[in-house]
Amino acid sequence: MISIVSCNKDKKNSLMENDLTNNPFLKESTLPYFAPDFIKIQNKHFKPALVEAMKQQSDAVNKIVKNTQKTTFDNTILALEKSGEMLDRVNNVFKSLTAAHTNDTLKKVETEIAPLAAKHYDEIYLNDKLFAKVKDIYTNRENLNLDAESYKLVENYYEKFTIAGANLSKEDKVKLKNINEQLASLSITFNQALLDANDAATVEIHDVKKLAGFSKEQIENIKDKTKENTWLLTITNTTQQSQLQNLEDRETRKQLFEAGWNRTNGGKYDTKQLVTKMVELRAQKSKLLGFDNFASWRLQNTMAKNPQAVLDLFSKLVPAATAKARKEIAEIQKMISSQGETFQLEPWDWNFYAEKVRKSKYNLDENEIKPYFELNSVLEKGVFYAAQKLYGITFKKRTDLPTYHEDVVTYELFEEDGTPLGLFYGDYYARSSKSGGAWMDNFVTQSTLYNKKPVIYNVMNIAKPANGEPTLLTYDEVETMFHEFGHALHGFFASQHYPSLSGTAVARDFVEFPSQFNEPWALNPEILQNYAVNYKTGAKIPQELITKIKNAGSFNQGYSLIEVLAASNLDMLWHTISSDTKITDVNKFETDALNSVQLLMIEIPTRYSSTYFSHIFSGDYYAGYYSYLWTEVLSHDAFDYFTEHGGLTRENGQRYRDMILSKGNTIELEKMYKDFRGSAPKIEPMIKARGLN
Ligand SMILES: [Zn+2]
Repeated sequence: MISIVSCNKDKKNSLMENDLTNNPFLKESTLPYFAPDFIKIQNKHFKPALVEAMKQQSDAVNKIVKNTQKTTFDNTILALEKSGEMLDRVNNVFKSLTAAHTNDTLKKVETEIAPLAAKHYDEIYLNDKLFAKVKDIYTNRENLNLDAESYKLVENYYEKFTIAGANLSKEDKVKLKNINEQLASLSITFNQALLDANDAATVEIHDVKKLAGFSKEQIENIKDKTKENTWLLTITNTTQQSQLQNLEDRETRKQLFEAGWNRTNGGKYDTKQLVTKMVELRAQKSKLLGFDNFASWRLQNTMAKNPQAVLDLFSKLVPAATAKARKEIAEIQKMISSQGETFQLEPWDWNFYAEKVRKSKYNLDENEIKPYFELNSVLEKGVFYAAQKLYGITFKKRTDLPTYHEDVVTYELFEEDGTPLGLFYGDYYARSSKSGGAWMDNFVTQSTLYNKKPVIYNVMNIAKPANGEPTLLTYDEVETMFHEFGHALHGFFASQHYPSLSGTAVARDFVEFPSQFNEPWALNPEILQNYAVNYKTGAKIPQELITKIKNAGSFNQGYSLIEVLAASNLDMLWHTISSDTKITDVNKFETDALNSVQLLMIEIPTRYSSTYFSHIFSGDYYAGYYSYLWTEVLSHDAFDYFTEHGGLTRENGQRYRDMILSKGNTIELEKMYKDFRGSAPKIEPMIKARGLN
């Protein structure tokens, strides 16, 4: 199928698509650290390279299967680990560009490759003969004299196969495949219904007075260009609608809130049947795979290990969250009265009056703090400085390496003794070719198997200022920059032999721990004094502003914790039903579920109601939405270790690096954490950090 053609001109066009001539992905990059050579890489290279890389992996797998010699670690597990080398090389660049700098060609390749990739991985993980060999090694792993990391690699591969259902009988495999196909199609239907429902739920306003509280600019932005005298209030994913913050007219607020709340509950875009079908199928799937419920199956290789551990954590958080929420309710009710109103607080009033409380209590003006948060200063004198203080590493800007966009900046990292550590790319500005949000990933994953050091990037969406103007950040953006670099450190300090166990390749309920842990350093006095300097005057940030930022951090935390706890519980309770449960009423299930965990609060509805909870019904956070809260607990508890032991010191940093950041996925995560902390994680530091105590 892959033909290298360099002569026949007529043939050339028809074969262009799969032409591998001069394809830079065929070989390792010759740049330092094997960094992607963006001068050579072009759009047309991706599809043929991806197809070729999958073919190479399939060939390698076939070779493993056909090998008639005695099954060994090397000819099975290690061969499998090595089989994806080219695929990783192409994929790492492909996924970076499709997310951070995409175009129509790349989008087309994405659509074309997705089904091929799904089929490709099925052919590996549902390959009976391959699994028989993996199982053989797994069963004998105690007797093979393996080093600890190789032992873990065996377990990891075995787990991947069994999670995919490799252990099932032929008959059950057919059943599983059937369930998986149904689930995949239901999740697409759910997503489409939700997108349509969001559109359909748009609230049309025909009297501009109803938009009182909006600025002129806001009103202009939401004007319907096709109709006279019409303004459109569009619906966002969550239960709370951000526009409620400004809408003075209570009726309009109620209308907007209810449009969001009911969007997929009854009517044309009702998703209740989809929800029912999906949770029932998932329960059946878990039974087929030998588990009591879907969440138990799903959590087997996480830090939490089982749903009970998660539900226990939630139940410990509820009292503190509820107590704070009650105080907030009282405060807001008081604010309502002070405005001469007599009504009882409803969910659609929350954002509007909470904003008034915020202004009166904290009076934090973004424009006042932004001059102290200039992008380069935050990055080099804040984020990098913190890493230097904690881990001894140093940074040197490089301008000689090609990047995929002129806004991308590049740094080389060095150990304390000058040994090169890796390359870092920062892509901070928003642009139309970039997806929303912020993220970290690898171009090159650390591994001693390939003798590779990490090449890592961070992406954010900061508005680019006019030419010659400085880039001034909000405090949220500063925190995000520390967060993403926390992920980067997890990748940089990886010290694994095998790439599939390296750095951030850990469970979902652990991977956000190093990133969240890195956030609070942004407010450490020593670090803050170093980077938060007024870009015009050179003055250090005044204490008064720091206090304001800190205080504002605890604002509305009762509300935000309750809404996330409610959604997290809903996710877990939907996925702990037994396989013979028949759901007859989705709304009743939701109400009963929230009631059973003391989270049914009129004023504070769940962040997502079941019928539009896309994380769990069309995304891949099913039985996994808890991860956000789980890692938040870990990060604050770990930060407390530092506070207890002298804070920002090399010694503390080294310990954390040695015991957490460098370990990748080589140790059972709960053990890894306890070894570092000396005890299981406690919730109190998080409660305190959120101002709930
Ligand atoms: Zn993150």
